[in-house]
Amino acid sequence: MYDYVVVGAGSAGSVIAARLSEDPDVTVCLIEAGPADAAENIHVPAAFGKLLRTRYDWDYDTHEEPFLGRRRIYLPRGRVLGGTSSTNTMIYVRGNRIDFDEWGQPGWSYDELMPYFLRSEDNDRGASEYHAVGGPLAVSDGRSNNPMSEAFVEAAVQAGYHRNEDFNGAGQDGFGPFQVTQRDGRRCSAATAYLAPALGRGNLVVETDLQVHRVLVENGRAVGVTGGRFGEAVTVRASREVILSAGTYNSPQLLQLSGIGPAPLLTALGIPVVLDQPMVGRNLQDHTFVPLVYEHSQPISLISAGSPEHVERFLDEGRGPLTSNGPEAGGFIRTRDGIPAPDAEFLAAPVMFADSGLGTPTGHAISYGPTMIAPRSRGSVMTALDDPTAKPKIMHNYFADESDLDDAVEATRAGMRIARQAALKPFTDGPQQQPASDSDADLRDYIRHYAHSIFHAAGTCAMGSVVDAELRVLGVDSLRVVDASVMPTLVRGNPNAAVIAIAEKAADLIRGIAAPATAADADR
Ligand SMILES: Cc1cc2nc3c(=O)[nH]c(=O)nc-3n(C[C@H](O)[C@H](O)[C@H](O)COP(=O)(O)OP(=O)(O)OC[C@H]3O[C@@H](n4cnc5c(N)ncnc54)[C@H](O)[C@@H]3O)c2cc1C
Repeated sequence: MYDYVVVGAGSAGSVIAARLSEDPDVTVCLIEAGPADAAENIHVPAAFGKLLRTRYDWDYDTHEEPFLGRRRIYLPRGRVLGGTSSTNTMIYVRGNRIDFDEWGQPGWSYDELMPYFLRSEDNDRGASEYHAVGGPLAVSDGRSNNPMSEAFVEAAVQAGYHRNEDFNGAGQDGFGPFQVTQRDGRRCSAATAYLAPALGRGNLVVETDLQVHRVLVENGRAVGVTGGRFGEAVTVRASREVILSAGTYNSPQLLQLSGIGPAPLLTALGIPVVLDQPMVGRNLQDHTFVPLVYEHSQPISLISAGSPEHVERFLDEGRGPLTSNGPEAGGFIRTRDGIPAPDAEFLAAPVMFADSGLGTPTGHAISYGPTMIAPRSRGSVMTALDDPTAKPKIMHNYFADESDLDDAVEATRAGMRIARQAALKPFTDGPQQQPASDSDADLRDYIRHYAHSIFHAAGTCAMGSVVDAELRVLGVDSLRVVDASVMPTLVRGNPNAAVIAIAEKAADLIRGIAAPATAADADR
């Protein structure tokens, strides 16, 4: 019996467990389905691709996507301490101010969330109006500095876009290097940042390799969870609250398996209905990516990152290609005039990035393309069986809304224009993968064949429909959801920073601590 049971030690769960256990008078049990994060490939940034489809990955796929030629799209998710923050590409972008303001949820405007971004942050550029030092999450400039990354930014400038040295500063538009969640060239996951320093606390227990199967609800109140570890059934009880931080696919699946979800689905699967809540698992959103890949003969791409000299440099100095997060540089553009914020985010990686990251590079290349960051299409996550170990049925419905495809066409066209600029000439000997032309028809065809997820799923337990503005599940007592699934709409950017800020705020809500009025109040 603990005061709090937190399910999932990912980006959000690590923060919640660490913050709640700061109070020595409460007991916290953090339960993670995956193992500890001891593997070196988790901590060496450039090795993130080696984690895909391994024991550290839930290894999901979408169902056949109707608007992408019935392709099944790969959806990796971290299954390890740190969750997806232990397997992601470490880009630190918070999102656009209007993302939070448009949520329309009390307490969640950009200005109100800003103190939590700052509380979490330890930026190696120092403190400023937009940044902070001293928080648990290390944010730093990249240490790989591949010449292709700078050439990409320069080509974007030659194509007419401006430079932006800080996508989390005064404005998002423009091109530049990304800041990354790394310390001294190594990954700084939520587990490294928050959990590791808290592990010595006597009031925090972390259970690994324990997959939660259901939330126990008695008389309308969550009282604990049941799960399994290597075939053994385990029950953990909570006297105050159960907090689900299992991520956008698994949190709604867990609610459904616990009888909280669309009654027709639950009834059809033989799951007793605790609460008919049709929106659990709906409103699923994601960002798609349209890859453009150009081959060249310069021997500097990341395929040689593991050479002895680079390994030595990484070990001695924490610098060089092994510190590369993949997409080292990028930029934000608006595909149309008159829209209030960027709707495409370019990611540029100095490597042949093929088949959602699963393909093996066959030569030196630069890969880049637009991520569509303001999608209108919505999908769903539904448990497929009354079996907690079965993968859920995920249908993203990418490009179901035709205007999403129109935007992707414009953004891809912009990407092809960047490829023609002088700065990229040394790195674009020939297209390895690009549309046949930049006509509308060829671009549409290409996107349907090659677009894939960039793995930013959110929205399936959204604030305002499944949880309230304090992230409490509507209709069930003592149960919250805190992870990317609570975002009503997905942020225009890379969600890890926003998820960590959401969890920072949630910890205050759970502890009944008043929201900080200013950024300075948020400092600890
Ligand atoms: C390859 C890849 C690259 C990405 N790159 C970036 C990037 O560069 N920048 C960025 O900002 N974002 C990136 N993201 C997205 C970002 O990492 C996620 O949005 C974020 O980590 C989600 O946090 P979360 O807390 O919602 O879920 P997670 O971090 O996924 O945490 C969920 C945790 O719950 C555990 N869990 C799930 N079900 C159960 C269960 N039943 N019982 C027990 N434990 C359970 C999981 O194992 C996991 O540890 C990337 C994602 C991927 C996959």
